[in-house]
Amino acid sequence: MPQLWFERALLPQGWAERVRVTVDGATIAALETGVEPGVEDARHSAAIPGLCNVHSHGFQRGMAGLSERRGRPDDDFWSWREVMYRFLDRLTPDDIAAISAQAYVEMLESGFTRVGEFHYLHNDASGGRYADPAETAGSIVAAAQASGIGLTLLPVFYAHGDFGGAPPTPGQRRFISDVDGFARLVEASRVKLPADAVLGIAPHSLRAVTPEELAAILPLADGAPIHIHAAEQVREVQACVAWSGARPVQWLLDNADIDARWCLIHSTHIDAQETARLAASGAVAGLCPVTEANLGDGIFPAVDYLAAGGRLGVGTDSNILIDAAGELRALEYSQRLARRKRALLVDQNEPSVGAKLFAMAQSGGTQALGVTSGLAAGNAADIVSLNLDHPSMAGAGTDLLDRWIFAAGSPAIDRVWRGGKKVVEHGRHLAADSIAERYRATVAALLA
Ligand code: ZN
Repeated sequence: MPQLWFERALLPQGWAERVRVTVDGATIAALETGVEPGVEDARHSAAIPGLCNVHSHGFQRGMAGLSERRGRPDDDFWSWREVMYRFLDRLTPDDIAAISAQAYVEMLESGFTRVGEFHYLHNDASGGRYADPAETAGSIVAAAQASGIGLTLLPVFYAHGDFGGAPPTPGQRRFISDVDGFARLVEASRVKLPADAVLGIAPHSLRAVTPEELAAILPLADGAPIHIHAAEQVREVQACVAWSGARPVQWLLDNADIDARWCLIHSTHIDAQETARLAASGAVAGLCPVTEANLGDGIFPAVDYLAAGGRLGVGTDSNILIDAAGELRALEYSQRLARRKRALLVDQNEPSVGAKLFAMAQSGGTQALGVTSGLAAGNAADIVSLNLDHPSMAGAGTDLLDRWIFAAGSPAIDRVWRGGKKVVEHGRHLAADSIAERYRATVAALLA
């Protein structure tokens, strides 16, 4: 069995020195600490567990950087969404696979070893069904397999254009299904999944799903993760109040039995009561700080939420710039900018901001994607090694995660193993060249 030896490794109980990891297939078979490397052991510097990316729309990687010009004076999330709808108009299943594979390569190179793909592009370009309802889910599976990333597939139910069952717009024609069609989609997706994939469900948002439809599709989750976009935008909150008298997260807490199965994506605009109730529910807030900054969404009240014991994970959402450390950094920086203070997301027990951010994202992320992780026997061998020779790591001790998140980022990532297989070496994905070549050809053709 292959053995990996690390100068140090972040175990569930904390940092350990001189650690040997024995890998059996996709799993960590044994882990020893305080041992010298054997002659056969591959030697590496510092191991941390791979992180879960709780929220991705893989195809949006293909439009990264395309909407950074002012189109109109009131440019905001909604005008960006129009650009996104035009971009996806012509995407074929092959295009989706090529673009998502590039996104997943970049996720692995940044330290994410599993992605929660919130997949809503189900229909063909005219809005008709493919003969196979899971045609584009198959594109996501193909992209995950080409890159080697772990997959939690979240097929999206999307039926309406706004609150109260409003009809969808033409730009939404590729997302739309009804309850029966969605049940067929979920089953057709299930049979395509590789062995260690997880299948959840994702009602898109309260804009896209009526209460009756939500009640009808929830049993399809069958104990697996349930993700939903909620309260990303002020206009969405206002429209929800006009429709129901309640704010989106408040409505979900009142009506949808929100618990540890749930991941509420964004939850940006929540008041004090929603903050306390969401924290107490056991659900995960799926924060996407880089995308939320890019889209001008707003700032999640992370300080109050964590003080109330809330759980969170991070996601790359629009994939404008894929960077695990960058999401954690942006989360902390948003709080610093709003409060004009430093080192906010910590407590007395864990003064290291980096260690706290990482631990929260790891435990919340695995919960949200329906898996366990961590460097321990029996868990998946999803391992990231950091390069201690990177200049920002000079003399690093127990502050190693602070150095990585705040001062180094992806350039300090050395190797990544996913399911026991090495997929990144010296910071580069082993299939990076061929996947990037296909990606470039795909995007160039789409933009031509
Ligand atoms: Zn999203």
